[in-house]
Amino acid sequence: MDQMDFELTKEVKAIQKETRRFARQEVLPRIKEEVFKRDLVSKMGKLGFFGCAFPMKYGGSDLGFLAHAVVCEEISRVDSGLRPLFNVQALTVAYTIMERGTSGARDKYVKDLVLAQKLGCTCFSEPNVGSDIASIETSIEDKGDYFLLNGAKTWISNGSVADVAIVYATFDGSLKHKGLCAVVVDTDQPGWTTQETPKLGDKSSPIAEIHLKDVRAPKENLLGVWGGGFKVAMSALDRGRISVASGAVGLAQACVDCSIEYANKRIQFGKPIAQYQLVKGSIAEMVSLTEAARLLVWRGVWLNDQDRPFTREIALAKYFAGETVVKVAGMAMEIHGGMGYSLEMPVEKYYRDAKLYQIGEGTANIMRILIADDALGIKKANRKRLHVPSEFRNLE
Ligand SMILES: Cc1cc2nc3c(=O)[nH]c(=O)nc-3n(C[C@H](O)[C@H](O)[C@H](O)COP(=O)(O)OP(=O)(O)OC[C@H]3O[C@@H](n4cnc5c(N)ncnc54)[C@H](O)[C@@H]3O)c2cc1C
Repeated sequence: MDQMDFELTKEVKAIQKETRRFARQEVLPRIKEEVFKRDLVSKMGKLGFFGCAFPMKYGGSDLGFLAHAVVCEEISRVDSGLRPLFNVQALTVAYTIMERGTSGARDKYVKDLVLAQKLGCTCFSEPNVGSDIASIETSIEDKGDYFLLNGAKTWISNGSVADVAIVYATFDGSLKHKGLCAVVVDTDQPGWTTQETPKLGDKSSPIAEIHLKDVRAPKENLLGVWGGGFKVAMSALDRGRISVASGAVGLAQACVDCSIEYANKRIQFGKPIAQYQLVKGSIAEMVSLTEAARLLVWRGVWLNDQDRPFTREIALAKYFAGETVVKVAGMAMEIHGGMGYSLEMPVEKYYRDAKLYQIGEGTANIMRILIADDALGIKKANRKRLHVPSEFRNLE
């Protein structure tokens, strides 16, 4: 690297401060209502929380991806269940449409998503397909005037509330990744039905199973080229890992914060448990892991902001941050003793929310494979990029 600067800019510090204020004043008081809160999402959109990586033309502030990561971390530090919004309103949906969409699709969807006037979702996963995206079974047919989609999607964040979806589908399953297409679908189309999925954590983020029966999408809604959906997916996932990794850091930081507070307050054997070496050791490990995860995330995001390849670095960051948050949430539970298990304290929620970070946007094993294949010289993770962020800055 030809330069190293750990100081956030004045503008990024300002939005970090504003996000922290919002999270403390508006999110925290309602933390026990573990449901989707449309009003909070609208406010986040209006305050520009989803727009950091977008040009003004699309409702953004052009602050860059590092600002996006910082904002996402601050929100997740209070409610990790709001973290998926940083993908479905920004990086995996709106940015993908801006990057790969026709000008018609960009104008129709991007600004509304960034401002949270419309809600988005990304549909990769299916009953028979998770990590192996090239095996997607949902079908897409070119009907001349429109595309026709049939199939089922599972585990779709925002699936039950979204107005706009990016659906990944195949026109010929035998072609595997070469048969994939990515298309934007309006969810008010006939044949689009959803059913919410109950789950362990992240409860302010609704998850749904989606059925598509003869759902239509206009031709101008194809992202990239026909059969180019796998490439669209891979760059969307790289970007999605920015939000997932920074969300994991925010949640890990919340575990550190509450553990320090509790350890200083809780008296056993006549003194605060913070004074016992074993507890101190846990705090030291939690702080170190969290700060190391943050630095890995910021390095990956910084490379992206510099238009440089970052697939390897963001996978490494996502992997490490995911492992960190699960470990640190467990340590926070331990420091809280029985109170960790209580519904009165936030720790049980942190513990439930943490696990997702080892699953979404590529499981821990998929990240391990990417990192190891790169290290062993089997397959280089970083490739020449089709598009870089500077192409979209100051977009007229
Ligand atoms: C809360 C939540 C939100 C989600 N949101 C979305 C969303 O918005 N959109 C969307 O499309 N999906 C979403 N998902 C789905 C998520 O992306 C998948 O769960 C994830 O990709 C893993 O797929 P899977 O669950 O089918 O697991 P599988 O792929 O079946 O994997 C099961 C296990 O096998 C391991 N494994 C698989 N293949 C290999 C291999 N080659 N080598 C070693 N180990 C392997 C995995 O690491 C994992 O441990 C969400 C999931 C959750 C839990």
